[in-house]
Amino acid sequence: MDFNLSDEHKMLKDSVANFAAKELHQIAEEMDQTDDWPEGMWKKLGDLGINGISVDTEYGGAGADVLSASLACEELARVCPAIALSWGAHANLCCNNLNTNANEEQKKKYLPKLCTGEHVGALGLTEPNAGSDAVSIQTTAGKEGDHYVVNGTKTFITNGPDADTIVLYTKTDKEAGAKGITAFILDTKFPGFSVSKRLDKVGNRGSQTGELIMEDCIIPAENILGAENRGIAVMMGGLDVERAFYSTYALGVAEGAFELALKYSKERVQFKRPIASFQFIQGKLADMFTQIEAARLLCYKAAMMAGEAREGGKGTEVHQISSAAILFAAEMSIKVCEEAVQIHGGYGYCMEYPVQRFWRDAKLGTIGAGTSEIRRIVIAGELLKM
Ligand SMILES: Cc1cc2nc3c(=O)[nH]c(=O)nc-3n(C[C@H](O)[C@H](O)[C@H](O)COP(=O)(O)OP(=O)(O)OC[C@H]3O[C@@H](n4cnc5c(N)ncnc54)[C@H](O)[C@@H]3O)c2cc1C
Repeated sequence: MDFNLSDEHKMLKDSVANFAAKELHQIAEEMDQTDDWPEGMWKKLGDLGINGISVDTEYGGAGADVLSASLACEELARVCPAIALSWGAHANLCCNNLNTNANEEQKKKYLPKLCTGEHVGALGLTEPNAGSDAVSIQTTAGKEGDHYVVNGTKTFITNGPDADTIVLYTKTDKEAGAKGITAFILDTKFPGFSVSKRLDKVGNRGSQTGELIMEDCIIPAENILGAENRGIAVMMGGLDVERAFYSTYALGVAEGAFELALKYSKERVQFKRPIASFQFIQGKLADMFTQIEAARLLCYKAAMMAGEAREGGKGTEVHQISSAAILFAAEMSIKVCEEAVQIHGGYGYCMEYPVQRFWRDAKLGTIGAGTSEIRRIVIAGELLKM
């Protein structure tokens, strides 16, 4: 058993950490205040080589493994969770999905521009009446000649307001449940597509989240991702990777808050001593460190296993570990951020100090990419499988 990252993984992690330290500190505060996505950021992420981190090199990607993508997510989230969230939707939910499920022509057509950052990617699954119960989506796609006519509403779509390319889930057979789902590659220039609303969120401000409308939207039949009525395979096939990947979002958020708390505890003087000299504060710091390290092992293990499973099935074990990683990391992250605010005292409750931003951003970890409750259901379901 080797707990060390390979030289390649360390290099990647360091290069994203350097980028985040140089480019994102200032921007993170501005994004929180303005709720705008920074101009030119997609191109910068493309130049860093991570927009298509999991995409095969022949389509402009880096051809890296799931652990690499997860490490990059951790380092972005450590400084600016909103960038990590949007980048994750682009690089994982859209690009990785296309790299895994698209045919050769589709990959050649869509992936290169997504990798450079010229185009922005998103994934549209959730609807106003279908969140955790994703199979109950009501967006319909009816075949008419060489195209499909799509009608429905998607909500909570990360990058939705800015996206060029969306992996879109629809129902092609309303009566067939999971067997009636079809995934499409939607070009947002297709007629009948519009963004109806930009959502005003508590956290991850600046990461654009939107409500999307498809009103008699025309999608060519050649844009089916996978096969008609086989969208569930596209959806389920990526879940372990998605959970492992986003577990490191929560890990990075916790690390960012912890670093701020550690620094503040050494600077803040009360009773003529830095507050770090009080055992209560030391105990908090020790617990935060321990929880982060425990989560890190689980997150990295899940990323390794999800990567191996992608190469050729491990079933139950990877479902459990990837769900456990994101469940534990997300709940740990909220606890660590809350303690980080507590260590800052009243200043932690003021917008002027960045620690509160991590606290708000941490909450998404137990909701987005499936809730804590659903993760527990998945783990228990695998444990109790007969
Ligand atoms: C900032 C943000 C970004 C997002 N980005 C995307 C995106 O890019 N693409 C996309 O498609 N979606 C996205 N989502 C949607 C996200 O995946 C959903 O919010 C999530 O799956 C939960 O769905 P819901 O919000 O409808 O909650 P609901 O499913 O209505 O759940 C409400 C509550 O009931 C609980 N619950 C539901 N069913 C059960 C059950 N069977 N047993 C026990 N408890 C249950 C839930 O755990 C939750 O606590 C995003 C959400 C947010 C907030």
